[in-house]
Amino acid sequence: MNYFNYVNNRLSCENVSVASIAETVGTPFYLYSHKTLMRHFEVFDQAFSPIPHRICFSAKANSNVAILRALVKAGAGVDIVSGGELFRALQAGCPPDRIVYSGVGKRDDEIVFALEKDILMFNIESPQELAVINDMAGRLGLRARISIRVNPDVNPHTHPHISTGLRENKFGIDIEQSLEYYRQARELSNIDIIGVACHIGSQITDIAPFVDTLDRLKKLIGLLRQQGIDVRYLDLGGGLGITYNKEAPPHPTEYASALMAEATNLGVTLILEPGRVIVGNAGVLVTKVLYIKEGGDKHFIVVDAGMNDLARPSLYGSYHEIQPVIRQGTGRLRGDVVGPICESTDFFAKNRDLDAFKRGDLAAVMSAGAYGFSMSSNYNSRPRVAEVMVIDDEFFIIRNRESYDDLIRGEAVPESLR
Ligand SMILES: *Cc1c(COP(=O)(O)O)cnc(C)c1O
Repeated sequence: MNYFNYVNNRLSCENVSVASIAETVGTPFYLYSHKTLMRHFEVFDQAFSPIPHRICFSAKANSNVAILRALVKAGAGVDIVSGGELFRALQAGCPPDRIVYSGVGKRDDEIVFALEKDILMFNIESPQELAVINDMAGRLGLRARISIRVNPDVNPHTHPHISTGLRENKFGIDIEQSLEYYRQARELSNIDIIGVACHIGSQITDIAPFVDTLDRLKKLIGLLRQQGIDVRYLDLGGGLGITYNKEAPPHPTEYASALMAEATNLGVTLILEPGRVIVGNAGVLVTKVLYIKEGGDKHFIVVDAGMNDLARPSLYGSYHEIQPVIRQGTGRLRGDVVGPICESTDFFAKNRDLDAFKRGDLAAVMSAGAYGFSMSSNYNSRPRVAEVMVIDDEFFIIRNRESYDDLIRGEAVPESLR
């Protein structure tokens, strides 16, 4: 359920007309519904209420401080993958003991930052990273709480570019070898082992891979405990999919029930790191039609947003519904929705049956709240777009549209070239 609905043929977000926001803010812009965001978080959080758990929102899905703040206020922690995301989480007021740090390439300065802030835990992705963190903690006179991110070798049956839990992927430590690395970690003087972590991929629409993974991790936890290694946290990562088109992912309550059925009496606090399922359908990208171009035997609907603003279709060929902001009811049009970028992969829809858009009409690219703005770039020297949040009957600009000055901020011409 979300709060993007038509009222008298005009798309509204909660109680605000999307067209009226476009008049004030201009296009393109990302638009988020606060109520949808909160509902998605609460449903997910509630679903796990029978057991000790913490929902650590995956900041990379959408790292706007206002989005993070709304979730943190509702009780979420944050899953980070960089120093920049740690900074954002702290800016959003996230208590450090709700922050978990994943990623295969943590830099020394990022590790120091996280150690000094005393985050809940590092999810370790390689033996060398473990040694480095131990070393740095020692030098700072601090201790690092860790989980090892194991690679369970489970196929999540999702797009290969967002699959992370197969042996061939760069993520995590082979589950077969992880026991040995846990033994080594136990010997390190500045490391406290507190858990086991994994993350098998994204946009997963089937429960089986999650349950298979949990089964494998349970066995590992059993082995660790036999060795006297304490496991208090089990971090199952994120990855639950959403409906973009016709996918039928399990509802969060179904997902939670399946996991809890396996995890009760395990004596751990479960950590979940959902991103997409919380924010994906809480946001849309609003764009304006610039031109309708007749190309051979089809139409091109050229809009003012591009792959630099929303990269998913060009990266994964992913589907986003495209809806008119004002329904005209003047027939249909078949064609490709494309952006202004000088790349053939710059498209939002291919050979799609659409409303009969014409120049000047507004279109909403749906389900764009996750991996939308956070993946956007300045390619083609396009200022990054504004972000807007609706709360009930008011809207708030939560990120200003960038200016041309923003584009060259920090750039400098050597003296000799002046
Ligand atoms: C990307 C990522 C997530 C979030 O994945 P979603 O599919 O958006 O739920 C969670 N944990 C880790 C370690 C990630 O890299």
